[in-house]
Amino acid sequence: MSEKQCAIIGSGVAGLAAAIRMRNKGFAVTVYEANTFPGGKLSSESQNGYRFDMGPSVFTMPHFADELFILSGKNPRDYFSYEKLDPVYRYFFEDGKVLDAYHGRERFSEEMAKQTIDSEKVIYDYLEKTDKMYNLTDEVFLHNSLHKVRNYLTKAVAKGILNFGKIGAFDTMHGANEKVFKDPHLVQIFNRYATYNGSSPYLAPATLNVISHVEIERGAYYPKGGMHSITKALEKLAKDIGVEFKYNTRVEKILIDKKHAKGVRTSEGDFKHDLVISNMDVYATYKHLISDVKKPVKTLNQPKSSSGIIFYWGIRKVFDELKLHNILFSENYREEFEYIFEKKQIYHDPTIYVNVTCKHTSTDAPEGCENWFAFVNVPNNQGQDWDAYINEAREAIIQKVKRILGVDIGPLIECEMVFDPRVIERRTSSAFGAIYGNSSNNKFAAFLRHPNFSKQIKNLHFCGGSVHPGPSIPLCLLSAKITTDLIK
Ligand SMILES: Cc1cc2nc3c(=O)[nH]c(=O)nc-3n(C[C@H](O)[C@H](O)[C@H](O)COP(=O)(O)OP(=O)(O)OC[C@H]3O[C@@H](n4cnc5c(N)ncnc54)[C@H](O)[C@@H]3O)c2cc1C
Repeated sequence: MSEKQCAIIGSGVAGLAAAIRMRNKGFAVTVYEANTFPGGKLSSESQNGYRFDMGPSVFTMPHFADELFILSGKNPRDYFSYEKLDPVYRYFFEDGKVLDAYHGRERFSEEMAKQTIDSEKVIYDYLEKTDKMYNLTDEVFLHNSLHKVRNYLTKAVAKGILNFGKIGAFDTMHGANEKVFKDPHLVQIFNRYATYNGSSPYLAPATLNVISHVEIERGAYYPKGGMHSITKALEKLAKDIGVEFKYNTRVEKILIDKKHAKGVRTSEGDFKHDLVISNMDVYATYKHLISDVKKPVKTLNQPKSSSGIIFYWGIRKVFDELKLHNILFSENYREEFEYIFEKKQIYHDPTIYVNVTCKHTSTDAPEGCENWFAFVNVPNNQGQDWDAYINEAREAIIQKVKRILGVDIGPLIECEMVFDPRVIERRTSSAFGAIYGNSSNNKFAAFLRHPNFSKQIKNLHFCGGSVHPGPSIPLCLLSAKITTDLIK
């Protein structure tokens, strides 16, 4: 019997994972990718001897990636490897305080207690509570479709639902953190995890405090050779097991006949498939590829997440005080988020994330130099004057680095690339250039993400950061699992 044919639209991390899983299910798989390169947001570029990871920089839950190699009968270590980071982050505050966030509940609380007014016990108990919260929510929100009734009948899900009061759904992240910590530095550090899915800690439910658990307790990792090696490894695995890739091939339409997906249309013609999985942002899929299908308006019109302005700078100096991951906090965090989510403007003193991969991969920058990925959170694209905002952000970063590290980096920047929400949308089709799909600024957000399948069109499925369970590398890998598990 000939193999059933599956089309995957997009080679983001979820598209690659879905391709590998569908191939393992015995389908003939073709990945159609609009770009000339794989990975979507998880890609890499080089300039003047500097290499930059263009998107994600923090790698958590690496076992979800390893799982794909094991499933395919391969040894993950033959494809890529990674090391655990410790400390994970260095935090800089405007009052001169510098805090290192170590891996593991014990070390984290011990070190933080030395530098803040909160006790080791208070910090440890908080981390223990988020551990319990993670164990209650993990199965409910992350591992199964929230849109299949049968999934609500399992013991683990019933336990999660019965404990709804314990998972912080009725408070905000900030509200919960402020109740625990006296030290504002710690409140700010834990509030920051709202940005991992593009939300505001002053609006997002306290349930999302579990994000810190993933990083602090389970660990953050650095893949050898940089984040892009994840994409390279997954693409190689997919090719090794027989997945076909068509790069530079944008899908223009999903072919539908009698409410069944039948294939895709590209500039090279129509291609028949038994099944289509879209890794394109779900909002953009409805708008561009299935415009004649009735839209799930409520789901698609949920407020979108924040975006970012990112400067990729080659800098002619080595900063010994910087680690791989560094945060230079704004002085007024609440106001910063009001600007992003209410005023939809850039804040004059943004929090800056500086990622410097040459701290681990020395070949990422010439000797005596550093490759900086300097990121500020901004609203998604509502037609703001991004060219003016880029200039404002550049100046704000230079001034903040001067205040905090005492160096004027302006004259030291020898090359620059810039991403803003317009570029992110152009490169990956993410609606409004939002990095994380819908925001999670209300307690029902998890239920208002699009399902991993179409309720109207048979054999049309979705995976990736814009659908359930959400954005980030591990969640995208899980989304591919949930999506393909639903396919018989
Ligand atoms: C700046 C930045 C920082 C981030 N930091 C982190 C982090 O530290 N840790 C973390 O875990 N996550 C992080 N994320 C989030 C993470 O990168 C994403 O959640 C994840 O990579 C999204 O993967 P995806 O599979 O949804 O697809 P995407 O990466 O969005 O890729 C979609 C792909 O589909 C292709 N495509 C779209 N339309 C079509 C079409 N019509 N035809 C053919 N191809 C099409 C696109 O070209 C693209 O390649 C970050 C993201 C960004 C942008």
